[in-house]
Amino acid sequence: MKKITVLVACLLAGAAISAQQTQTPPATPPPAPTGYQDTPMQPNGKWHVHDGMRPQPRVVTPGPFVSLAPPSDAIVLLGSGTDLSKWQMTQGGGPVGWPVADGVMSSGKGMIRTTQDDFTDYQLHVEFATPSEVKGNSQGRGNSGVFLNGVFEIQVLDSYQNVTYPDGQASAMYGQFPPMVNASRKPGEWQSYDIIFKGPRFEGDTLKQPATVTVLHNGVTVHAAQTYLGPTMHKQIGKYAPSNAKGYIGLQDHGNPVRFRNIWIRPLAEAQ
Ligand code: MG
Repeated sequence: MKKITVLVACLLAGAAISAQQTQTPPATPPPAPTGYQDTPMQPNGKWHVHDGMRPQPRVVTPGPFVSLAPPSDAIVLLGSGTDLSKWQMTQGGGPVGWPVADGVMSSGKGMIRTTQDDFTDYQLHVEFATPSEVKGNSQGRGNSGVFLNGVFEIQVLDSYQNVTYPDGQASAMYGQFPPMVNASRKPGEWQSYDIIFKGPRFEGDTLKQPATVTVLHNGVTVHAAQTYLGPTMHKQIGKYAPSNAKGYIGLQDHGNPVRFRNIWIRPLAEAQ
């Protein structure tokens, strides 16, 4: 009797093991560099630069797209035609090699920048669309960027159902502050940034007032007079230098074909 009990127990155990073995294993997520833990801590002492454990911003569906036409005193950087005369290659300063047609410019080889390089405080409107054909993930999907005073990046990325480290997603102050919420539209759809930037102030070499930025992503506030901790860098935070007080507007080539249109800027005057 004892032998039979042992035999039945062995059979049951074997059945349990084989049932476990035939279960479908959990799907392994695709490898994605969603963050870093070996980077410096943010000054708040809570998160590393590009910390993948930082909370993901809540998703907000923006209202219908509205294309904001330039006001009469705006400097139109990219209008309805093919005029790229207000832009140059960042390296070398030659004419821009990015393709343009009917007011739509697609990011190509090399970073570009405005020819004007003395912007300080301004309102900047940018419309962009990440590729409608989704390729890659995390930072490899629709990556570009808008550089304020040449060194402070507002990230451009396809952040529609695309997890990445929060301080690197669309409209993030890259490597420093995630947007308050994720107001991204779908891949291929036109989106807008309305950026109000105040450049840093120096007395001699001493920083007197850091740069601040307010950003609306698709009409949704994602930064409200947030302070830049320093110039944008990958995996670290840059240090302020007097040369950051003014600069150009730059657009990043990150190897993904991101489209841009309707870009204009209004330098801000002090209230009288
Ligand atoms: Mg970028």
